[in-house]
Amino acid sequence: MSHKIMAINAGSSSLKFQLLAMPEGEILCQGIIERIGLADARLVVKTATEKWQEITPVADHREAVTLLLEQLINRKIINSLHDIDATGHRVAHGGETFKDSALVTDDVVAEIERLAELAPLHNPVNLLGINIFRQLLPSAPTIAVFDTAFHQTLEMPAYIYPLPWRYYHELGIRRYGFHGTSHKYVSGKLAEKLGVPLSALRVVCCHLGNGSSVCAIKGGKSVNTSMGFTPQSGVMMGTRSGDIDPSILPWIALREGKTPQELNQLLNNESGLLGVSGVSGVSPDFRDIEQAAENGNQQAQLALALFAERIRATIGSYVLQMGGLDALIFTGGIGENSARARAAICNNLHFLGLSIDADKNQHNATFIQSEQAMVKVAVINTNEELMIARDVMRIALPEPALQEVLA
Ligand code: ADP
Repeated sequence: MSHKIMAINAGSSSLKFQLLAMPEGEILCQGIIERIGLADARLVVKTATEKWQEITPVADHREAVTLLLEQLINRKIINSLHDIDATGHRVAHGGETFKDSALVTDDVVAEIERLAELAPLHNPVNLLGINIFRQLLPSAPTIAVFDTAFHQTLEMPAYIYPLPWRYYHELGIRRYGFHGTSHKYVSGKLAEKLGVPLSALRVVCCHLGNGSSVCAIKGGKSVNTSMGFTPQSGVMMGTRSGDIDPSILPWIALREGKTPQELNQLLNNESGLLGVSGVSGVSPDFRDIEQAAENGNQQAQLALALFAERIRATIGSYVLQMGGLDALIFTGGIGENSARARAAICNNLHFLGLSIDADKNQHNATFIQSEQAMVKVAVINTNEELMIARDVMRIALPEPALQEVLA
C-alpha cells in the first residue's frame, strides 16, 4: 500500500517541501516558499507535469504552511489533509540525545528546544515547522530527522577536542558533525550500486555544496567527519573558512575590536571561496569561481587550489584512520557536477590505488575510476528528502514486509 509522506526543511525565511509516494519514492510534488515574512513571498511548486508559482504576502511560517496545503488541495495533488499520512522534518541538531530519527512527542519537542542552545539559528525554526504541521495535521505522525544523528557512532577520541575537560562534560562541546542524512543516503546507494554490503566497505564521502563536509564511513558507520561542534569547521566552503588556527580569532578581535558576533560573521559569511577569491571576493558560488579562474583570475585559481587541498588533507587522514580505502564518493552541487573539482581532489593519488578516468569524470558517470584503479570513485546525487521519507516509513508506519526493503 502506498503512503503520502511530506518531507519538510524549514529555514528562517524559507520552507522547502517534497511530497513523496512511499515506498516507491515517487515525487508527487516539490517546491519552496521563500521570503516568508515579506509582502512578496514566493511559492514555487513542481509536479511531474506542471510548475507554477505565486507571489503573495506571507506573514509567517504558519501562513506559509497553510498556503501550501491549500494549494495542494486546490490543485488536486491531495483530496484533503487526511491524505498526508505522515510528515518528516529536517532538524539541524540532535546533540548526544538523538542517535536516530525520532517520532515527535511532547518530550522530543522539549529536547529539541533544549538543544537549540547548540544550533540557535536552526533548531528553533525547524521546531516551528514541526509544531505547525502537528497542529494542522493532528492525526499524521511527525518524525524528526537529525543532521547529526548519523555521526553519533563516532567513538572517542574522534569527537573530543583537546580543551579543558569541563567544556565537553558541562557544556557539550564536542564534534557532532552535520550532513548526516546525505552521507548516510549516498553511502547506502554506493553499496547498492556496487552490489556489496556497506558493512564490508571503507568509504570516504565528500558532500560538496555551499556547505561542504567529508565523512569517513567504515562498515556503514560514520567514524569521523570534518564538520564539528558547528558546521563551520573542516574543509573550506562557499563563505565559511573551515578549520583555521584558532588563535587567529582572539588576535583579530584584539587588533580590530571585533565582537564574537562579528567574528562569526567573518568566519561564516565572508571567508571560504568568497573570501579567498579577491579583496572584494568574486563569489561564493563554485561555478562563478571556476569561470573566473578560467578567465585568468589568479585569486580564483588560488581559491580552487585551496578548496581541493583542504579536502585532500581530510581524505588522507581518514584513509589512515580506517586503514585503507575501498571507495570515494562525490555528492552535493559541486561533487555531482564539477569534473574539475573531482579531478583536482583525485590528482596524483595512484599510490593509494586511486585514479580517475578523464572521460568518465567529464561526463559525470556514476563510477569514474580508471580501469586499473583499486579504489572505486563514485558520483552519486544526494537525496535527503527521500532519506527523510524512508525514516518516516521505518519509524511511523512500519510494515513488516517493508522493513527488509528499507533496512
Ligand atoms: P546546498 O549546500 O545549498 O544544498 P548545493 O549542494 O546545491 O548547495 O551546491 C551548490 C554549489 O554547487 C554552488 O557552489 C554551485 O556553484 C555548485 N554547482 C552547481 N552546479 C555546478 C556545476 N555544473 N559545476 C560546478 N559547480 C556547480
